[in-house]
Amino acid sequence: MSGVGKGVAVASIAKILQSKGYEVTAVKIDPYVNIDAGTMNPTEHGEVFVLDDGMECDQDMGNYERFLNKSLSSANYMTTGSVYMSLINKERALEFGGKNVEVVPHVPLEVIGKINNAAKKEKAEIIITEIGGTVGEYQNILFLEAVRMLKLRKHNDVALVLVSYLPQQGDESELKTKPTQYAVKTLNSAGLQPDIILARAKIQLDAKRKDKIAFNCGLEKNAVISAPDIKSIYEIPINFEKDKLSNILLKKLDLKAKKKDMKDWQKLIANIKSAKKSVKIGVVGKYFFTGSFVLSDSYISVIEAIKHASYSNGRKPEIHWLSSSDFDVKETNTKKIRENLKNLKNYDGIIIPGGFGSRGVEGKIEVIKYLRENKIPFLGLCYGMQLATIEFARNVVGLKNAHTTEVNPKTPYPVIDILPEQKKIVEDKNYGATMRLGAYPALIRANSIAQTAYRNTSLEKESIKLRKKYGTPKDEILVFERHRHRYEVNPEYIKKIERKGLVFSGASPDGRLMEILELPQKAHPFFVATQFHPEFKSRPLQPHPLFKEFIKASIKK
Ligand code: GLN
Repeated sequence: MSGVGKGVAVASIAKILQSKGYEVTAVKIDPYVNIDAGTMNPTEHGEVFVLDDGMECDQDMGNYERFLNKSLSSANYMTTGSVYMSLINKERALEFGGKNVEVVPHVPLEVIGKINNAAKKEKAEIIITEIGGTVGEYQNILFLEAVRMLKLRKHNDVALVLVSYLPQQGDESELKTKPTQYAVKTLNSAGLQPDIILARAKIQLDAKRKDKIAFNCGLEKNAVISAPDIKSIYEIPINFEKDKLSNILLKKLDLKAKKKDMKDWQKLIANIKSAKKSVKIGVVGKYFFTGSFVLSDSYISVIEAIKHASYSNGRKPEIHWLSSSDFDVKETNTKKIRENLKNLKNYDGIIIPGGFGSRGVEGKIEVIKYLRENKIPFLGLCYGMQLATIEFARNVVGLKNAHTTEVNPKTPYPVIDILPEQKKIVEDKNYGATMRLGAYPALIRANSIAQTAYRNTSLEKESIKLRKKYGTPKDEILVFERHRHRYEVNPEYIKKIERKGLVFSGASPDGRLMEILELPQKAHPFFVATQFHPEFKSRPLQPHPLFKEFIKASIKK
């Protein structure tokens, strides 16, 4: 079933097997016809996660990277659409030599081909594949067929784990096992029998219910694993191991543990648990509300990055959602806006994350102005950096009505614009090709907050070998960060803006694209924004340096 934590379960299993000394990778299968997650609205589908190679994919890929502590590629992600697309491309290229191409077996075989390809590319010994959606729905039946074929071919190399939810009616009552029994029956009718069941529920599964599931579903008793709600998702691998998940899984796969080590992870959990004092961070966005529910999923990587940085600073993060419309004259009266702005002083730091379009933009610009003038720590991400540039251009440089051409194509001062080289592509309505997607190099200037943050971190180290290739000056740092945007700081305004004190401390190696802006520390304790999305590269074992510095500054406040 979707939304029960399958992605985190997969990431946790991957982490556990990695800790047993195996090279592990994880693949996500989304049942959508969309080729990727690029065109999906965040309130529909949660955050769009971006990989180094520019793949726009499901947020679960972020969980895999965070738990495995390594970067994955587009080989690790597929959708119904992408499977059909590659199959059809093969057919058009005459790769079937005149044969009929059929939904079965060719679609499942294409799926298997993609899984194998990911394993090869990642040099993985074990590959965990997540099949999205719910057992019994039409959409994923061909993926289940792929599992059946795989298992038929290599019985001892494939283990099937069913993540099932056990409802509870009221706090005192027992967990209900019937839906799980029914799910297994449905799986059976697809020719599959689970080897392990992860019993997701509010609470711990008791022995009686375990027996019941094992007996009715035809599993060994120890193959039913309790997976109760838990405070921090990072505790899940350790929790699974309490039920000895790795023993059962390795046995099913005919493998032995090569080593036994989750020390790094245990230390992380100890850090999380020992943090007593909190740090209060506000996130100003617009993708929070769907009907009457709050949807923090749209910013999941931002949230996780805040957590990683807070834990590593010995603090408990306290994250609050602020709606940009509460600061926007179009949606809120000025008196209330003034009150809302004043309330920003109650936060230790404020983040303005990425976004698209015009809704909420003026509200965010008001917030940035207030943060700048009142010296409240500010971290801007992507749109957050573009809006910080606009705010500075309007209120400090004096360029009245400066704007991004995304919102106002007729602005007299297009400080954020599409660069000439991209304009032609947009005119041809080829929007898909106009985004800057994936990892690009950035050089970080000496004597900047950004450089202090990045120095001696894993992000600096991972690109050391490439310094020469990008002509990195001695006193600068080269990093690769992930992008997902169409607009850029307009090079025509850079000098004008810098003259008034804003510093572009990171830029592309050719100096054309601005990557980081900041105010010098003597002017503001922490005012930093990035054109890229640092949150995509933050990991619990390697918090992102800019988030770390931001949290540090917030704690100081
Ligand atoms: N809308 C902006 C752009 O396209 C920023 C995108 C973002 O924040 N990811 O450039």
